[in-house]
Amino acid sequence: MIINSDWHIHSEYSYDASNSLEHIVEAAIAQGLSRIGITDHLNFNDEKFKGDIYASANAVHNTQKTYSNIVLGVELTPIERPEFDYIATCGKREGYIPPFQSSPYELELGMTKAQLMSLGIRYTIGAAHWRLDVPHAKSLQPDLNASIKDWYRQQLWLANDDRVTILGHPWYHGKGIWYEDFSVIPRSMNDDLAVALKENKKYVECNSHFFVSPKTSEKFRNQYAEFLRELFEMNIPITYGSDSHSNYGDSRAEVERYLRSAGFVEGDISELSENDLWS
Ligand SMILES: [Zn+2]
Ligand SMILES: [Zn+2]
Repeated sequence: MIINSDWHIHSEYSYDASNSLEHIVEAAIAQGLSRIGITDHLNFNDEKFKGDIYASANAVHNTQKTYSNIVLGVELTPIERPEFDYIATCGKREGYIPPFQSSPYELELGMTKAQLMSLGIRYTIGAAHWRLDVPHAKSLQPDLNASIKDWYRQQLWLANDDRVTILGHPWYHGKGIWYEDFSVIPRSMNDDLAVALKENKKYVECNSHFFVSPKTSEKFRNQYAEFLRELFEMNIPITYGSDSHSNYGDSRAEVERYLRSAGFVEGDISELSENDLWS
């Protein structure tokens, strides 16, 4: 197989996932994976999300006693700085009113590197999930150009943040507004992103979602595999992430079909090295 490890798996400690660690380990062994990473969501700096991450860390540390090929990670998403500050002051998200301002919100992640490391977290996936340029962007109708611009901004910011190990699912979009034809993403944006990723020694994720979701077209899947291949050829290492939330199973054959047509062969998909993992 081209894919032999999986660095993006959600356990039941993510608010939107149901995989038990027992099930994940059984499935990983059945797939013959050499190493897996648990990356539950830390979307905000409130007690609820932090509590999920404490529980995830505890459970992974317990599992490591009997299965040593499991690594503790976390999935981080940029949030708007004023909301982060509000939560830091009030301890909760309720009551936050996004300020109107003429420029996009500054970005922040849910914890500092010291806080993450104190939990035994050894790496992070940083990934954009929603617009953060205007108030209440999540409730707006999807706007193709505004979304592309803001994903570009967030992904570039993540590529420059020292808490991020892997840029997770670049150009993922919940509603799949650009999943027909990847060429709507300007080439120049991906060139800029590649430069930042390379300079900052980031990994890029090959996320199974793009190749198995009913939302992506055949054309998009091939274009996306070629996008990953171009990054790979610039010596930006690629990791695999199933991003499983439930019924963790094996999607690698489907994903590898597209990777192979783009030129990937055995050995091209990386494991995180001990040097890249935090101690
Ligand atoms: Zn994600
Ligand atoms: Zn995820």
